[in-house]
Amino acid sequence: MASSSETHEMTARTRELDLLVVGAGFGGIYAVYRARQMGLTVRAYEKADGVGGTWYYNRYPGARCDVESIDYSYDFSDELQQEWVWTEKYAGQAEILAYAEHVVDRFDLGRDIQLSTLITRLDYDDDRCRWNVETNRGELILARWVLLAPGLLSVPKVPPFPGLDAFRGEWHQTSRWPKEPVDFEGKRVAVIGTGSSGIQTIPVIASEAAHLTVFQRTPNFSIPARNRPLTDEERRRVKATYAERRRYAWRSGGGLPRAPAFESAADLEEDELEHELQSRWDIGGLDFLYQIRDFRTNLESNARIAEFVRRKIREVVDDPTVAEMLTPRGYPFGAKRPCFDTNYWATFNRQNVELVDVNASPIVNFTEHGLRTSDRECEFDIIVFALGFDAYTGAILDIDIHGRDGRSLREYWADGARTYLGASVAGFPNLFLIAGPGRPVNAGLMHHEHAVDWAMGLIEHARQNELVEVEARPEAEDEWDRRIEEAAQLTVYPKVKSWYWGANIDGKPRKFLVLLQGFDVYQEIARQEAEQEYRGFTLRTSANAAVMAGT
Ligand SMILES: Cc1cc2nc3c(=O)[nH]c(=O)nc-3n(C[C@H](O)[C@H](O)[C@H](O)COP(=O)(O)OP(=O)(O)OC[C@H]3O[C@@H](n4cnc5c(N)ncnc54)[C@H](O)[C@@H]3O)c2cc1C
Repeated sequence: MASSSETHEMTARTRELDLLVVGAGFGGIYAVYRARQMGLTVRAYEKADGVGGTWYYNRYPGARCDVESIDYSYDFSDELQQEWVWTEKYAGQAEILAYAEHVVDRFDLGRDIQLSTLITRLDYDDDRCRWNVETNRGELILARWVLLAPGLLSVPKVPPFPGLDAFRGEWHQTSRWPKEPVDFEGKRVAVIGTGSSGIQTIPVIASEAAHLTVFQRTPNFSIPARNRPLTDEERRRVKATYAERRRYAWRSGGGLPRAPAFESAADLEEDELEHELQSRWDIGGLDFLYQIRDFRTNLESNARIAEFVRRKIREVVDDPTVAEMLTPRGYPFGAKRPCFDTNYWATFNRQNVELVDVNASPIVNFTEHGLRTSDRECEFDIIVFALGFDAYTGAILDIDIHGRDGRSLREYWADGARTYLGASVAGFPNLFLIAGPGRPVNAGLMHHEHAVDWAMGLIEHARQNELVEVEARPEAEDEWDRRIEEAAQLTVYPKVKSWYWGANIDGKPRKFLVLLQGFDVYQEIARQEAEQEYRGFTLRTSANAAVMAGT
């Protein structure tokens, strides 16, 4: 890592780079690796004091991967995947963070990663065809290319309740969890939010706290992860066939080595379907998700799976009133991101756990000793917010980005994010997005590898053809927008306004943010784009001349 003395020295001078990377999560780390391989001068700037992004920040008890560890890892180095030992089927936060740190050390990437540095502003210099980049440390960096990897789920939703300042106890956000463990023993604790992070942390906190009150707005579908240690034999088997497993994942719709077992629930008789659902439920995790292909496009298939999960909640939760409160209704299974849990429903059978429906009893404000809902006052020692994120666009728009002719990205995206291929934005030349809006749903690290490789392919193309600028064309963006909207309309996603629509953030434009056409389809489109010499881009050999595809 760049030392603090080096950092001080750098503030006094201007640095020039071929490629500047924003963020050192899994996306940024791989970008540094690839850029260095290509012989580019590269530096990633990371606002945290460590690498790992998501897994650096989300240290809350119970934080864990939903994708099997052996797949939630890089594919770019076979030595790396052969060496690294995952201990559990679904790795916990600490192990994933250790993996990210290991990758940085193993490939000596730290010397090109500058920590504790926030990128605050990017200005495109039209005449010099380069980006002027500012940091919170007063540095100025001049970069030919910029790659934005600031995270898709990295800006937490701010607790929107009045009076939080008055609260005298401790409060924490799951996504900004302190490095020191939080001691819940003997404490009265509140968890606000029952999305993925809430569902992971609630059982763990419940087992430690004296009393836990869970404030729920929307009940979620959750599937038991059935996490367990991996055996030596399993690890050996995976390592012997890793290449094959990865090849399969690259060709898949989800970026994971999985394919649904059945096309539609309609293909199965009632008892067959019940048997299949039960057997996958018993395996848990993604196996349950990957069984009926059309559950996200066919409401009938969807309803049968949804009803199965609802029944499971009723089977586990003793109190029928609580079971009903926990049961998701009114939106299809999978239209919001499904959660994966360890003992979530059973937690509500504990004597020390209470569930509050904030639709019936909205939180009014915080007080010195806790919070007030519309019908009562509650006292807490610790409050935990698990409120979700300003997904996909939050971290990008936190940076003040000005493209050609000073165009502001915040203004350009005022009615919703627009990109071409999720990789580039018209009016913002030589700038790549690698995990922002407009891409397939991210699962595993292959999406990051693909996004970085594709951007590097375009940089290489520019190098070979002496191009100074590449810029997405507005018409290509229009077409991409239509594709995203049309693909979403074929699915159950429009049936609920989730964070995929920006609906969890007040004032955020409601526009669908991901491409629901599968990773395999996306890769093919991106491959053709490159093969056809980037037809969706304007390519320039000097600041004012347009050549090749965009002329
Ligand atoms: C709790 C949780 C669980 C998840 N589980 C899964 C899972 O099971 N499977 C899965 O596929 N995905 C999961 N994800 C999604 C996860 O975010 C991605 O898998 C992946 O880790 C994202 O990597 P990234 O590099 O794109 O972004 P991040 O890991 O978010 O890293 C971005 C980095 O950029 C830095 N940064 C942001 N803005 C700036 C700036 N202006 N200047 C400098 N630095 C900046 C941030 O500090 C951060 O370190 C999960 C996310 C969360 C929050």
